[in-house]
Amino acid sequence: MKSMLEPDHTILKKILLVEDDHFFGTMLQRNFAQESDLETVWAQSLAEGRELMASGEHDFFAAVLDFNLPDAPQGEIIPIVLERHIPVIVFTASSDIEIREKVWSYNVVDYIFKDDTNSVEYLISMIRRLEINPRSRVLVVDDSSFFRKVLVDLLKTHLFQVSSAANGKEALALIDKSPDFKLVLTDFDMPEMDGLKLTQKLRQRFRRDELAIIGISAAGDKLAAANFIKSGANDFIIKQDFMTEEFYSRVLQNIENIERSQMIFEMSIKDHLTGLYNRRYLFDSGTKFLARSRRQETTMVCAMLDIDFFKKVNDNYGHDVGDLVLRSLGKILSASFRDTDIVARFGGEEFCVLAVDLDANSALKLFEKLREKVAAATITSSKGETLSVTVSIGVCVQLAESLEEMIKTADERLYKAKDNGRNQVIID
Ligand code: GH3
Ligand code: MG
Ligand code: MG
Repeated sequence: MKSMLEPDHTILKKILLVEDDHFFGTMLQRNFAQESDLETVWAQSLAEGRELMASGEHDFFAAVLDFNLPDAPQGEIIPIVLERHIPVIVFTASSDIEIREKVWSYNVVDYIFKDDTNSVEYLISMIRRLEINPRSRVLVVDDSSFFRKVLVDLLKTHLFQVSSAANGKEALALIDKSPDFKLVLTDFDMPEMDGLKLTQKLRQRFRRDELAIIGISAAGDKLAAANFIKSGANDFIIKQDFMTEEFYSRVLQNIENIERSQMIFEMSIKDHLTGLYNRRYLFDSGTKFLARSRRQETTMVCAMLDIDFFKKVNDNYGHDVGDLVLRSLGKILSASFRDTDIVARFGGEEFCVLAVDLDANSALKLFEKLREKVAAATITSSKGETLSVTVSIGVCVQLAESLEEMIKTADERLYKAKDNGRNQVIID
């Protein structure tokens, strides 16, 4: 199971680099190459860049553009690349205020100085953000359709999933429907429900580390900013005169805080090696699952799985290959059950599955199929050795008083499966 918060380094991303300076271009290309999943397609002029885009040969993930090119000295390339819906990051040697304003007049992702020692690192972190931003939902709440569009466009430039609402009431309705927003940007003065009321209402449901709220207040309204923070907002922005850069900095900082908390939470409920749920989460959520199944008189199946002769895998191939086997089995397991089921690493090479709304007959078929899938899968080590393992499975389909009891029953059946010769499912 991959974390939602990590970039996917297995997907190749092509970066269009347009840069006439040979030294700088080579340096960027080398740094991108070290990232393994970034491929540079380098053009040295506007004309060359145009040709590359027109050829249709490349699907560019993002573009890194020099502001001053021999055939486009005033950033003329920027709108041409944006037209093709490629996110643009501008690189320039100049800190001239007019150039800066000109660059920000386009919907560019960012503007970076060449001579800044951290610039390449920063650039790569920005590309990484573009990769994970589409997984973050942001809600813009403002009664002015003009300003709503300004904010939505800015956020879309950074590839966030953006929704918008015209007042607090609409915003609450949207959040009721999909509570997975990471950030709400809200205006203060709005009909139906104002931004302060909205902030207070949201804080009754979401902690500051679950949902970030940035209040937006009119220039000169000194009280609004303080009131926003007191009502539970994480941050605020002054409406009339905020700079694009400040806006992006605050948005990213708040999103990153939320992601950090989510990451810590994820780590507390997941097993580090396999990415499956850990034992603590299994007991916490499993107990609730069981109570619900008993109350609603639905079914819940509890299965214990254990790898056969796993000690031999470690002895024959080493502990690293043992870990690889555990990870591969984790993948097969999480792909075999629904998102609403719990697949957990119980400890060592033992796993536990809680599957809801599954009757005894289907359970037998499902676990039998899983057993066959595991036995048929081959694992290749980094040295090129191939191996496969089998699993023994014990299943309990009768609801018991407690989860512990169901696990105990499943475990007894698992040991029966081991005694009977392993690589089999025992269900009663
Ligand atoms: P059986 O078929 O009876 O289950 O035999 P087994 O060898 O699988 O069972 P046993 O309990 O004797 O050995 C389990 C082994 O699993 C011993 C332990 O070193 C290994 N193990 C436990 N956790 C990990 C882990 O995280 N990584 C690796 N590589 N091995 C682990
Ligand atoms: Mg074992
Ligand atoms: Mg064991």
